[in-house]
Formats: sequence, C-alpha cells, structure tokens
Amino acid sequence: MYGPDAHGGIPACSCCGEPAVIFQPGKQRHLCGTHLVQDVEARVAATMKGEDQVRPGDRIAVGLSGGKDSTALLVILSRLLDGWKGASVIAITIDEGIAGYRADTLRAAEALTRQLGVEHHIISFCDLFGRDLDALLQGRETQACTICGILRKKALADAARGAGATVIATGHNLDDEAQSVLMNAFRGDIPRMVRNTGTGRSGRFLPRIKPLAAISEKEIAVYLFVQGLFSPLPECPYTRYALRSEVRAMLAGLECRHPGTMLHLMESKRKIERMCAGTPVMEHLHRCRECGDPCSGEICQVCRLRHSVLE
Ligand code: SF4
Ligand code: ZN
Repeated sequence: MYGPDAHGGIPACSCCGEPAVIFQPGKQRHLCGTHLVQDVEARVAATMKGEDQVRPGDRIAVGLSGGKDSTALLVILSRLLDGWKGASVIAITIDEGIAGYRADTLRAAEALTRQLGVEHHIISFCDLFGRDLDALLQGRETQACTICGILRKKALADAARGAGATVIATGHNLDDEAQSVLMNAFRGDIPRMVRNTGTGRSGRFLPRIKPLAAISEKEIAVYLFVQGLFSPLPECPYTRYALRSEVRAMLAGLECRHPGTMLHLMESKRKIERMCAGTPVMEHLHRCRECGDPCSGEICQVCRLRHSVLE
C-alpha cells in the first residue's frame, strides 16, 4: 500500500505511488493521471458491455457539442471501438445558432474530428427549423433550455438517421444523471425519473446510449486535462436561466462536503426504478399522432413547439 501523503502534501496514487491527480470517493482511492485514464476507459467499456450498448457492425453517432463531455466520449469511443465488434463511430454537431458561444465550440469539434479522423456532420437549427435558437427565443429566454433541448434531440435523431447511424451516443455524465434525478423529483415527475429513455432496438427509433453515465464531470475534466485535451470554452449564455444550473451548483457543493452524494442519488434512483417496475408509474411511450415520434402523451413535444414557437 502506498502512503497517503508521499509527495509533500500531494496524495500518492493507490495503484503506483506516483502523485495523484484525483480522489474517487466510491472506491476511497487516489489515482495518478495514467491510472485515471486507464480506469475511466475501463469503466466506460464495462458500462457499454454490461448494458449491451453496442452490437457488431453498429455505426455509432456521437452527439458532439465540442464541450468536454462529448469530446471525452468521442476520444474514448475512438479508442475502444478500434477493432471492437466491427463497430464504427461518426460525430454529429448541432449548431443551434447561439451568438457568442457556438462558433468556438464548433471550431473545437471540427479540430477534434480532424485529429481523430472521424467523419463529422454539422446540422443547424436554421436549416431544420427555419430560424436560429436566438431568434426562436426572443421574449422566451427563460424557456431556453427546454426549447433548445427538445429541438436538439430531434435534430440529432434526424441527422443520425440521415447519416446511416444505428445508435446515438451522448456525453451525459454522472453529474448530469444525478442532476436529472433531483430535477425530476423537484417537479414531482417520478414517471420521467424512472422511464427508460433508451427506447430499445425495436421500431424506427435509434437507441440512445450514455457510455459516460458512471463517470463524474470532475473525472472527465481531469481525464482530458492530463492528456492535454482540455480547452476552456465559453458557456452558453442561456445557462443562467436553467433550473439545472441551480441544481448543479447545489449538488456540486454537497458532493464536495459529502463525497459520494451523487453515487448515492443514483442508487436511490435504481431502488425507485425497482419499486416501480410493473406498476402504472412506468408509463409506456406512445407515438405522436402528428409525426409518429415516441412521446408520453398524444402529441410529442416537437409538434407542440411547432404549433407555438415554430409557427
Ligand atoms: Fe441549449 Fe440550454 Fe444547453 Fe444553451 S445551456 S445549449 S440553451 S440546452
Ligand atoms: Zn497510478
């Protein structure tokens, strides 16, 4: 066992004794950069294998915003899929049209796909919905993330299908998932908390996978940083209106004072899922009566927006 304080105050890696760069509360251990990279990639591979996320010959479309989560996802998948099950990876970037934000992240996404030699598709809200997000949101800024999230999900699904993908992979991490649990609880929306949004492999809907769901935001940032892949980018100007920002700050504070909080929250979600299994709370998805996409009511959220924001 390596001493906890072998490098003048810097804890030692529990695997090799080198200076550590991160502490993992779940395993109560410190890791150096080399072992963190190995550990993150091994855990992503375990998530993908354990949940049977990738099948032989799959063409995986990574939703690449250019931010750190999707950057890490594309880097990891490019490494893991090299010769694994004959699967391949492409990247799709949605340009919502957000002044002062999207241009920088688009450039980062283009640079990364060039460096990795990954096929890259860029599609804009303007092409798909006739207007940029900035224009769509005039007077509705407080609803920014709701509107953006619905339209971006639709844009990514259509672009992935158009590019011949068989699976969509998004960069949602442990923090995102834990935030979603709390946000659904705050809204009293237990069905949404426990609903399986993966949509399975049947029918015309592409399955959506989250290979980073067990990796914390901090681990992802350090994973990129120790490999020289981290570049600070501007934050979306609409973030300040989002409930998620408040939940994120609250959870980050709790995690700092009580390490392991987010893991415990995810464990609570799994227990609630087990308790709800087979009960009416587990709503089944229907098809939208206007466009046929999956939805929980009669009309999907995109069609609802078509009648309001997009008209
Ligand atoms: Fe869209 Fe909100 Fe994300 Fe900005 S912060 S890109 S508005 S979801
Ligand atoms: Zn180490």
